[in-house]
Amino acid sequence: MSKESNTRLLSILEALQDGIYIVNEDFTVEYMNRAMRAHWAGHEGTKCYEVLSGLDQPCPWCRAREIFDQGEAVQWEYHSPDETRIFEVTELPLAGPDGKMSKLAIFRDVTSFRKQEERLRVTEQDYTRLFENVSSGVYISSKRGRFLDANPALLRMLGYETKEEFLNIDIRKDLYLNPEDRDRFQQMIEKEGRVVDWEVDFKRKDGTPIHILLTAHGRRDPSGQILGYEGIMVDQTQRRAMAEKLREANDFLNKLIASSPNAIMAADMRGNILIWNHAAEEILGYAAEEVVGKMNIVEIWPDGMARDIMKMIRSPEYGGEGRLRSYPLVAHRRDGSLLEANFSAAVIYDAEGNEAASVGILVDLKERLSMERKLRKTQEQLLQSEKLAAMGRLTSQIAHELNNPLYGIMNTLELLKTEISPDNRRRKVLDMALSETERLSTLLKKMLTFSRPDQEERQKVSLNEVVDEILLLHEKQLRENDIKIVQDLDASCPLVMASKNQLRQVFLNMVSNAQDAMPEGGVLTVKSGVHDGKAAVWVSDTGVGMREDVKAHIFDAFFTTKDAIKGVGLGLSVCYGFIKEHGGDITVQSAPGEGTTFLITLPPAP
Ligand code: ADP
Repeated sequence: MSKESNTRLLSILEALQDGIYIVNEDFTVEYMNRAMRAHWAGHEGTKCYEVLSGLDQPCPWCRAREIFDQGEAVQWEYHSPDETRIFEVTELPLAGPDGKMSKLAIFRDVTSFRKQEERLRVTEQDYTRLFENVSSGVYISSKRGRFLDANPALLRMLGYETKEEFLNIDIRKDLYLNPEDRDRFQQMIEKEGRVVDWEVDFKRKDGTPIHILLTAHGRRDPSGQILGYEGIMVDQTQRRAMAEKLREANDFLNKLIASSPNAIMAADMRGNILIWNHAAEEILGYAAEEVVGKMNIVEIWPDGMARDIMKMIRSPEYGGEGRLRSYPLVAHRRDGSLLEANFSAAVIYDAEGNEAASVGILVDLKERLSMERKLRKTQEQLLQSEKLAAMGRLTSQIAHELNNPLYGIMNTLELLKTEISPDNRRRKVLDMALSETERLSTLLKKMLTFSRPDQEERQKVSLNEVVDEILLLHEKQLRENDIKIVQDLDASCPLVMASKNQLRQVFLNMVSNAQDAMPEGGVLTVKSGVHDGKAAVWVSDTGVGMREDVKAHIFDAFFTTKDAIKGVGLGLSVCYGFIKEHGGDITVQSAPGEGTTFLITLPPAP
């Protein structure tokens, strides 16, 4: 070899990345290139074992003899003592120009290559492990419709025992519950390159349907053509059943809230309304859609009430901390009116125990209050009739006791009258005494009627007849008092079943009260007819009329506005008793200075 070509060869060797050195038969280094020198601080003339291993004799693993004696090339791997570098070593026998043998060693640094290899090996293992053990189904399939690979989870999910039988199924026909879904799947992949969380119904080996959540993408060849697919399937059957159960439970709760007859409302801690049921709509007048998420709950309470309510809920005194038990209060309806209600409420806490919302139930007290009022009224009426009964017994006793001596006096006075001539001045005094005793006798009769109303047989009676009779009897007296009578009796006024005597007393009382109400004269109008299908008589006067407070008590026994001689206050209460006993009613319309009208109605005789 020329010197020139020798120099060229050397410079090539120097430029190589691989370490190269030549050792002669007694292990003396003849040549080391630059890459070799960079790793081992040796130089020509030193022993190779000194350079490589720092030893004073050949390395234990040295294979120089194979090369020198057998002339074979060997390849082995050299690990640096600190294990940081790995070299692939190739050693060849080299015959020198002088016939001497040398050994050429090429040290190729494969550290990073090995590491990468190792890394790759690890990830492949990891992926296989993942593929085998993951609980979702993982698969690779062909475009034509066969599975190329599937993990055990997928086989389990779809009920196949062996991978072999699974790889043989026709995906379109044997897997899809609706085979057209496979076309849709392929179209989606063609268009989007993948499908994500696609819900589809598959069937298991035994044909039972299974609801799957599928995520997949296309596998393409280098030109971008889709070869097949790979993806993950998650069994949704259980989740779907859970969701269904949850929805059912939710529906049930919603129905419960919606159908409650009491107003149920919920709000978050800032007062934004979250729930507003049907009863709340009815009781408070706001439609759910105008309050939920739009109105603050404070608007239904009077000023400051919302704060007071929250204080009570948080205090332990009103049913325990976090609760308010049946508290009476008022709320504003949509139309501005006030609602009297009982309110119960509770705080709802989140998982961390923080206040999340409040829920309240409002019970409208209208009906309860009106029941209570009615009850109170009935109790009062009962008390009143007790009083009346007691009064009745007392008055009848007194009347009886007084009656006999009174008749004695009257008879005596009549007797005296025959003995005194009409011209005598004393006769006038006698007449006065007689008229007063007669008045006393009438009063006693009234008292007796009150205490022991006569139990006369009832018969068919014409109200027109009774009224006519009474007016005829009193015509003269009324005229003397400047009272004009207007009689407007309707022949169609039905007959009634009644005690004639009691009816007479009723109308007599009406007429005499009207007369008392018109001391300066006036008009008494008596009209008959039909009112609400009942026989009716209206007795009107143009007299003084009544104030509200008087009107409220006229049917009470012993209520009178008249002086002690004129009135005892029993007339109307007796009338009231009679008419009610007959299944009828008396009502009055009156105002001071505007006269009075009594309306008496009685059911028609059958
Ligand atoms: P009395 O006539 O003995 O007072 P009543 O029971 O008949 O008893 O009447 C009760 C009261 O009702 C009367 O005192 C009077 O104040 C009022 N009243 C009854 N009828 C009339 C009427 N037509 N106009 C005005 N007030 C009347």
